[in-house]
Amino acid sequence: MNELRSFYRDYHPDARALLDACDSVLKSALYEREPLPQWSVGRVTLLGDACHPMLPFMAQGAGMSIEDGVVVARCLAQAHQLDDVAPALQRYAAARQARTAEIQIGSRGNQWMKTQGNADGVYGYDAWAVPVSA
Ligand SMILES: Cc1cc2nc3c(=O)[nH]c(=O)nc-3n(C[C@H](O)[C@H](O)[C@H](O)COP(=O)(O)OP(=O)(O)OC[C@H]3O[C@@H](n4cnc5c(N)ncnc54)[C@H](O)[C@@H]3O)c2cc1C
Repeated sequence: MNELRSFYRDYHPDARALLDACDSVLKSALYEREPLPQWSVGRVTLLGDACHPMLPFMAQGAGMSIEDGVVVARCLAQAHQLDDVAPALQRYAAARQARTAEIQIGSRGNQWMKTQGNADGVYGYDAWAVPVSA
């Protein structure tokens, strides 16, 4: 706690009061992960941080997880019997992997909105409309 407070010692009193109100804080490393080549095996799949954990510099981890949720739900809605589930999950991964890998790698660079200005690419994606058909 004292280490954190010392970093913020010259900040506005309101910010320091907030830190003074904390009993304890956690210090955690940031881990880089490469995009995973495979998300699904049979009727088991991954979504969110489990398959694309990313550094926080684009603030998109939860955004990507929510997009995954929409796309996997759309793919599973096309599965009318048990045998349809595994191919539906393959379609979900195929629809999502390039998108999440781009954000994962972009976030790692920590240049987004500094030297790169692709906000439309990030916020213009429509998980409800991206093609998922067989
Ligand atoms: C400090 C911080 C700031 C962030 N800011 C942003 C931001 O501004 N914008 C953004 O988009 N993203 C942000 N993120 C990233 C975002 O929080 C994550 O990307 C997102 O929560 C991932 O969602 P998830 O559902 O994949 O995983 P999680 O939110 O981690 O959910 C996984 C859940 O599974 C539970 N669980 C684990 N193991 C088991 C088990 N064996 N049995 C049952 N349950 C289990 C966990 O308790 C947890 O509730 C931030 C993250 C951090 C740490």
